[in-house]
Amino acid sequence: MTVATTATEATPTAATTTATATATEATASVGLDERIRRNPGAHRVLTGDRPTGPLHLGHYFGTLQNRVRLQRLGVEMFVVIADYQVITDRDIADRLAEHAENLVLDYLATGLDPDRATIFAHSAVPALNQLLLPFLSLVSVSELGRNPTVKDEIAHSRQSAVSGLMFTYPVHQAADILFCKADVVPVGQDQLPHLEVARTVARRFNERYPHPDGAAVFPRPEGLLSAAPLLLGTDGTKMSKSRGNAVALAADEDTTARLIRSARTDTERRISYDPVARPEVSSLVLLAALCQDRRPEEVAEEIGDGGAAALKRTVIEAVNEHLRPVRARRAELAADRGYVRQVLRDGAERAKAVADATLDEVRAVMGSV
Ligand code: ATP
Ligand code: MG
Repeated sequence: MTVATTATEATPTAATTTATATATEATASVGLDERIRRNPGAHRVLTGDRPTGPLHLGHYFGTLQNRVRLQRLGVEMFVVIADYQVITDRDIADRLAEHAENLVLDYLATGLDPDRATIFAHSAVPALNQLLLPFLSLVSVSELGRNPTVKDEIAHSRQSAVSGLMFTYPVHQAADILFCKADVVPVGQDQLPHLEVARTVARRFNERYPHPDGAAVFPRPEGLLSAAPLLLGTDGTKMSKSRGNAVALAADEDTTARLIRSARTDTERRISYDPVARPEVSSLVLLAALCQDRRPEEVAEEIGDGGAAALKRTVIEAVNEHLRPVRARRAELAADRGYVRQVLRDGAERAKAVADATLDEVRAVMGSV
């Protein structure tokens, strides 16, 4: 588990290489990026997050920056707050509304514009969830059991027994993506297996239910990776909202410093950038590089024999400096919760219209009443 090799491509373009994403995946992201830049109006983005806690640096460098960049290119965008998916790996979905509103604040603070991006909670869009039924018939139980992200999420689950919803998670996600016929999904690396399920569902649906005029009902969505497709948390595993290893975007500067100081490193004094051999150190180096828009090798070289303490000082300063305007904007926006709720209501209305139209089309090709 590790991180990308170059930071210069991180902002503002897509990833070129990652240590664990295959070369094919990375090349695909670059190719997709080029196609989007040539014709932004021909694409539609769906992306989203579970309202399980505040967004963190992994989200920011893994997908949020890409979302904002795509929005600025003029690509139509849907952002789902995946509230039903909260109960895939825990028994109780607590503080859902609060977490959802905080996600909206994180989005707006980082630059998503609700007039251009449709931000909605998927429990507010019944027709989206209804797509789950035909879609579930298109995948086998053993396919769902083999999904590596599902396995990882089960390993970190807070449930004593694995719920049925956990196994249907990737198919539900296919409904999230396909309800609006999105063809581009900016995600972190952990989501690629889920995305593969969405591609399979789209292909099988189109084959089983051909459109009378010959056009396919669904596009085959592609994942768009950033230069930091798998940022590590303070414990050396994927930074995650639910694992207590994350630095939140909205954290104050002292908390940021404390968390980064507690991050796992290794015993070698000389700092280098080697994501395969030294994942924890390299993730920190990459973080500083992304914040400063520099190459990670250059950051590592500069710290040299300074050891983990000097590395962490650099990272703390870089992160706090980079996020200062985002955090200030977020604090301003947080004063108006009414506006945040309005963003969600407007987003739900727009998403409902799109989902209803897709469900009508699905019913028609399936020959339903
Ligand atoms: P949870 O612990 O509740 O699963 P999470 O931190 O994994 O939360 P998600 O809401 O599951 O966040 O993921 C939202 C998006 O952010 C996905 O596209 C995911 O791939 C991406 N993402 C999450 N964590 C990272 C990370 N550490 N590095 C890069 N991308 C990430
Ligand atoms: Mg997750």
